[in-house]
Amino acid sequence: MEPVIGIDLGTTNSEVAFIINGKPEIIKENDNGIVPSCVSLDASNNILVGRTAKNQAVLYPQKTVLSVKRLMGKNEQIALDGQFYTPQEISAFILRELKERAERVTGQTISNAIITTPAYFTDAQRQATREAGEIAGLNVVRILNEPTAAALAYESGETDSQRIMVYDLGGGTFDVSIVRIEDGVVEVLASTGDNHLGGDDFDHEIEKILTDHIKDKFDLDVTGNSSAMARIRNVAELAKIELSSAPFAMIQEDFLAKTTAGSDIHLSYELSRPEFENAIESYLQKTMDSVNQALKDASMLPSALDKIILVGGSTRIPKLSSMLEKKFNLVPQQGIDPDLCVAMGAAIQAGREMGIESSTLLLDVTPYTFGTSALGQLDGFPCRTVFVPIIKRNSKLPTVKSEAFGTVYENQREVEILVYQGENPNALDNVEIGNFMFKLTPNLPEHSIIILKYELDINGILKIKAIEKESGKEINGVIENAFSAIEEDRLKISRRKIDQVWSSGKNEDKQIYYDYTDGNENSDAVDDTNMQRTPSELETLITTARNIMEKASDEDKNDIINLIEDIHNALESGDESKAVKIGHELEDLLFYLE
Ligand code: AMP
Repeated sequence: MEPVIGIDLGTTNSEVAFIINGKPEIIKENDNGIVPSCVSLDASNNILVGRTAKNQAVLYPQKTVLSVKRLMGKNEQIALDGQFYTPQEISAFILRELKERAERVTGQTISNAIITTPAYFTDAQRQATREAGEIAGLNVVRILNEPTAAALAYESGETDSQRIMVYDLGGGTFDVSIVRIEDGVVEVLASTGDNHLGGDDFDHEIEKILTDHIKDKFDLDVTGNSSAMARIRNVAELAKIELSSAPFAMIQEDFLAKTTAGSDIHLSYELSRPEFENAIESYLQKTMDSVNQALKDASMLPSALDKIILVGGSTRIPKLSSMLEKKFNLVPQQGIDPDLCVAMGAAIQAGREMGIESSTLLLDVTPYTFGTSALGQLDGFPCRTVFVPIIKRNSKLPTVKSEAFGTVYENQREVEILVYQGENPNALDNVEIGNFMFKLTPNLPEHSIIILKYELDINGILKIKAIEKESGKEINGVIENAFSAIEEDRLKISRRKIDQVWSSGKNEDKQIYYDYTDGNENSDAVDDTNMQRTPSELETLITTARNIMEKASDEDKNDIINLIEDIHNALESGDESKAVKIGHELEDLLFYLE
């Protein structure tokens, strides 16, 4: 059988993958395998595709085509330096580049491909994609839905029936799909989204922050200065990416422009994660509205979901996975690179066409969450031992993440950095796997920022760094075997030991606090699929239910009243797990009524 390749033909980037030794692999050529979906002409009017084309997009916009996927299926002509092309023809340039890349790397002639498209693509859009493949010299064996491909990448070996949400947020588009997988067959139950929402919008928000800052500081509107704006766009995206693993991003761009008086403007701005999250809040909320819509379209209750899969580069933003985690009590799967997941799934399907059943991917993910303990809020009350997750369970390894904390009082002399493995919102219920004393610079003001950085590799070696933000002073520590399993006995010993330390007041002068970002949300949203609601959380749910009940129909009102009564009865009889279970039913009902 002739080889078949799998292609993710994306709006921003495209990838090609192939089954090698029974496993899907992205085809790379001294790069990360991500090929920008960009076509342009060079000075001699030769066609360029991918990174080289993208590099000159700013210089020669009239000779560059970006995001052609948005035009697929439309009867439009695209001008490229005076020549006109159909969307299929432009896409064919990208596909031909991917085909040739595959041929160079595998040393084989490739003529068969599976190409993915969004689940919402119409017949005309799918047909246009097929035609693009044919123009590129490919026999398109099958057009595969992107969420189907993503589900296959994670679940090709699963035999149990699974209901999966595929949340796909890329550079310029957002899709959410509900898929069911049974005996390796994937069915898309619902799919919705927004064709014009993605990482580019987040970049624009940072650009706005920066241009406002320049206006305030230098009294200059740079928005009309195209070369300055191109540079701002570039640093804005880099800062956004940095904030996915660090609490601050320092944006610096020298000689950006000149003031009206003729002096040079050197841009220097520190963007914090909360400021960024605040700026993109409305976009994230919009995606959650689509999530609700997709569930409704699939006639599914949130509690029926087995898994959430994250696809697309923008899903690396931590706030996004914590929003989903909080809503569904499920830790989103991030084990496969979200940029490559769809192409990997396409390769798995390509393998099937060739009669090769590929083995499930062995994912290098952390089986536990790692974090620290800090002063914060738990269930709305001040708590001295809030568990602050830093590296979340299911994160792809190796990974580096950092978080900001504050000193508790002026001239604090030291901080005890406690390192925990576990999933519980109270650090005392997790396992302490290390502690380090950090001697601080004298005379630091209250709330001085301490950054805690965790670096975890695939062998379970966890490197810890604590840094005083102002001075740069730091300490380092290593925990050699962070993956050793939690043992019940150790957990109990750990809890007893720490309880004693707290009750003796020994640690009070060595604490850090965590309300720098939305600490409450983080502490509530600890990722444990078996997480139990506490009675006080059930009471909060009941209060919400009472408010919603006022607007509900008589029938729904009755259901709510009965469920509330059942929860109270279960709590009174001491059966907390039953109360929690009924709580889930109530939550599902409220979800629909809301
Ligand atoms: P895609 O269309 O899936 O290739 O995603 C591209 C988008 O993901 C671009 O807007 C990138 O800036 C964004 N992106 C890539 N890596 C990260 C990251 N670590 N954090 C936030 N956004 C990212």
